[in-house]
Amino acid sequence: MATINTSLPGLACALAAGMAIAAPVQDAGPNTARHQPQIDTIVSDISPQRIEATIRRLVGFHTRHTMSETESDTVGIGAARRWIKNEFERCNAANGGRLQVAFDSHIAPVSRRISRPTEIVNVVATLPGTQAGSAERIYVVSGHYDSRNTDVMDEKGYAPGANDDASGTAAVMEMACVMSKYKFDATIVFMTVAAEEQGLLGAAHWAEQAKQKNLNIAGMFTNDIIGSSRDEHGKVDDRQVRLFAEGIPVEKDMSEAVRALVLTGGENDTISRQLARHVKEQGERYVKGFKVSVIQRRDRYLRGGDHMPFLERGYAALRFTEPNEDFNHQHQNVRTENGVTIGDLPEYNDYKYIAKVARVNAAALATLALAPAAPQKVQMRTAQLENDSTLVWQANTEPDLAGYRIVWRDTTASDWQGSRWVGNVTEAKIPLSKDNYFFGVQAVDRDGNASPATYPLPLK
Ligand SMILES: [Zn+2]
Repeated sequence: MATINTSLPGLACALAAGMAIAAPVQDAGPNTARHQPQIDTIVSDISPQRIEATIRRLVGFHTRHTMSETESDTVGIGAARRWIKNEFERCNAANGGRLQVAFDSHIAPVSRRISRPTEIVNVVATLPGTQAGSAERIYVVSGHYDSRNTDVMDEKGYAPGANDDASGTAAVMEMACVMSKYKFDATIVFMTVAAEEQGLLGAAHWAEQAKQKNLNIAGMFTNDIIGSSRDEHGKVDDRQVRLFAEGIPVEKDMSEAVRALVLTGGENDTISRQLARHVKEQGERYVKGFKVSVIQRRDRYLRGGDHMPFLERGYAALRFTEPNEDFNHQHQNVRTENGVTIGDLPEYNDYKYIAKVARVNAAALATLALAPAAPQKVQMRTAQLENDSTLVWQANTEPDLAGYRIVWRDTTASDWQGSRWVGNVTEAKIPLSKDNYFFGVQAVDRDGNASPATYPLPLK
């Protein structure tokens, strides 16, 4: 984040005029811009060579169609999921054994893309959080290991799925392996899911279980088609990734909270957009020369992915996808037409690029899981009309909490432009108008790890 308050109109002169601030400013607070050495190590340990080896191994199962063969040890989705589970366990044994690796299985009944009852199996590796009070806060990162070709019901044909989505699967496996050596305050779930291509069934099952158990999923990322930096015209752009972030959540009946968001112009300050701001800031901090391009929609135009079952259950969730997809290399039978090779083959992936996307994910997950939770019950005082902005919030309970930071931006800006450390308080007055700026409150720990911001709803 660019510093700081004095460059912003309004605040500097308000401060000069000696206006009262509810929370006295004692110092600048913990340094929230410093690199955490552990995250720099994680980012540099993510290996394009291991990611490539994983993808080539996954392609080697011939097809990973959700209804394919499950008995064979060499072909089909059964062999693929057993291999993925073994890989998680092998890596875990070498790294201290703190990952909890399990199958999450259910039988999907016949539906539009399921022609007979089929066992759907997610492979889930959980890295439990280590801080009391924070371990129940969960971040999920996923890729889907199932594949398809032109006919989505073809369970036997060659369906390499090297980009869609062995790329996301390999990134998640690499992150689990590299990150499980370290301890985080919050819990991180590394998940490879099945049946994305048959209707997001694996992710929906896990998200529904989470909802029923009332799990605190504070953020979810899916990595789907992160494999190639080359567009259909051959142009290479390996310096950015698209990050899809839903705005107003789609709900049958709008809740009071959503209504308050809309009434105060907060449609760009939903929990998914706040999570995306955090991912962009931290991802770009740790992965130099690489851009996270936030796309202000839930997914590509009218398309979908495994973050959607999470969104539809009220969780903040995002999708990572390469900047320019080449549709010759997804969802199609492998073949040659007019001298052009069609199909989702490993030679069309860019393994260094996938590693960069994995590094952005890992840096974002690590910063989230080391930071306090985003503040709860953040509200703006509105009892009387005034040109200052007074925010109140519920105190965080983390033992390493240092305090809070107020962030703001112009109403037409996407990213935070100003910030002020206010200390360990639960109310602060900022001499800027709530009519003219968007505000947020972040919790910061003693190491300078800042949470995503929370948008203030009106306090009446
Ligand atoms: Zn996909």
